[in-house]
Amino acid sequence: MALMLFNNLTKKKQVFEPLHAPFVGMYVCGPTVSGESHLGHARPFITFDVLYRYLIHLGYQVRYVRNITDAGHFEEEGRAAEDKISSKAILEKLEPMELVQKYTNLFHSAMGLFNNLPPNIEPTATGHIVEQIEMTKTIINAGYAYEVNGSVYFNVRKYHQDFAAKGLPYGMLSGRNIEDQINETRVLQQQEEKHDPLDFALWKKAPDHHIMRWASPWGYGFPGWHIECSAMSAKYLGDLFDIHGGGMDLQFPHHECEIAQSTVCYNHTPARYWLHNNMITINGKKMGKSYNNVIKLSELFNGNHPILEQGYSPQSVRFFILQSHYRSTLDFSNESLKAAEKAYKRLQEAYNWLQELSLENVNDTEFDVEAETKINAVFPQFSSCLNDDLNTAKLLALVFDILPIINSVKDKNISLKTLTKQTWIHLQQYFKTYLCEVLGLDFSANYSENLSKGAIQLLIDIRLEAKKNKDFVTCDKIRKDLLTLGVQLKDEKDGGISYSLL
Ligand code: ZN
Repeated sequence: MALMLFNNLTKKKQVFEPLHAPFVGMYVCGPTVSGESHLGHARPFITFDVLYRYLIHLGYQVRYVRNITDAGHFEEEGRAAEDKISSKAILEKLEPMELVQKYTNLFHSAMGLFNNLPPNIEPTATGHIVEQIEMTKTIINAGYAYEVNGSVYFNVRKYHQDFAAKGLPYGMLSGRNIEDQINETRVLQQQEEKHDPLDFALWKKAPDHHIMRWASPWGYGFPGWHIECSAMSAKYLGDLFDIHGGGMDLQFPHHECEIAQSTVCYNHTPARYWLHNNMITINGKKMGKSYNNVIKLSELFNGNHPILEQGYSPQSVRFFILQSHYRSTLDFSNESLKAAEKAYKRLQEAYNWLQELSLENVNDTEFDVEAETKINAVFPQFSSCLNDDLNTAKLLALVFDILPIINSVKDKNISLKTLTKQTWIHLQQYFKTYLCEVLGLDFSANYSENLSKGAIQLLIDIRLEAKKNKDFVTCDKIRKDLLTLGVQLKDEKDGGISYSLL
């Protein structure tokens, strides 16, 4: 059975056929590093990590590109355009690039804790200003963008009029009717610069005091968010590549705008398969600042958030996310996370026991036919679950179906001879391949070790803050108390703090 993926562009499950097998090009929208990633961000990065791992498992040579948005991502809905990165930097009294580095580092460490493989290329928006300007120029020259006061806007209505007849209407991915969009945006319209409320910015003029700005044919400014992904995906994957991924919330307007921009430049949609993961809700509610339920990843791990009854280990969060199909909604609650954590620990114990199992005393004469048949029937289903639009939920359910047999042997309730040697070897191999290599579960990850590392880092951060505020009493107390616990802090020349365990 071939790999089938649900293509959001056609709204169908389709056989995955790369353009230039064995090569696969995959682009996934990365984080905006003006703040720390939250629980909602964990899902796309874990989902597409599993897809990446599975494509490699199938023998493809994958180029996985995931960008870092470190400039210009501004919100347009009814607000004056602002550069998120610049305004937050002023608040935190940091250089914009210092802020970008801080949140990029935090993002990378969270991805590492989740055991996500790094992408092959991680391009930054600030490193590709030239490409974004070039693409904007091409769109203007084609007649689908216009300049007003140093900013450049994409003419959505003209695009739709010309391309709808070619089967490439604006709204083709999200299924949104352009007339409905006109009604929606009219109410929010505040940006008089645009000729039409539907239009979106390709380039935005920046005032003189703005640090994150670049010279362009239209004066100093910064690029729009949508053009970033179009320019960078084309640069590294070509103007037509295999898979474009991201969260469902990016489908409109972000991906719709990406499609329009690339279609003007290349006359076709940039990617052939568009995959979107569904959202995470918290206790049945959408995650959002207005609900006060945005849980940052560090808070999720250390439990420091009013909604959380405890911290959850990155691997049990990964397991929790993979227990649902990526296109289903996933509701987060302390109960569901605790249940996932318990199940994950059971699996972790069984896995580690299984891998260290000595099979010397197994003879193939006393096996239990029923158990033997049940387990052997499951192996071929692992790949068929994943081939069915990456159904990690079903795969894990199958593993838990046979786990009682393994645990009964582990707990010495039944003999090791219940299964044949070959079946034990297959169990070791299949679990290693599918659970670790493909689903990316890291059963060696030690939660308490991560927790103590995190706690030390937290104290270091508090001490840095205290030092900045000249609160030397707190500084000294943290240093001395950590020393009694066997942790020695060292003030570095660059103002940072390193530590060593005594
Ligand atoms: Zn993007």
